[in-house]
Amino acid sequence: MDRNKCVGCAKLSPEVESEFTLVGPQVGWRISRTQSDDGLYVIEWRCPDCWKRFREQKASPSKGAGVFGSMPPTPPKPAPRGGR
Ligand SMILES: [Zn+2]
Repeated sequence: MDRNKCVGCAKLSPEVESEFTLVGPQVGWRISRTQSDDGLYVIEWRCPDCWKRFREQKASPSKGAGVFGSMPPTPPKPAPRGGR
């Protein structure tokens, strides 16, 4: 199969038998599909390092993805009155 290139660091994927091996736990590459401006789907490969960074970026509220106050409101617990 063709070797894929990481979109983050341009590293080439290791030579494996199939993409299933590549995304498996031993190799740990990840695919993500994004839609380009043309409406075409683009496959992006990431090596484990770049995938980790990518995920952390996505999870970070500082990126301004419209997520604010990500903590759900916790209902106040009734204070235990100490038995009798
Ligand atoms: Zn990479």
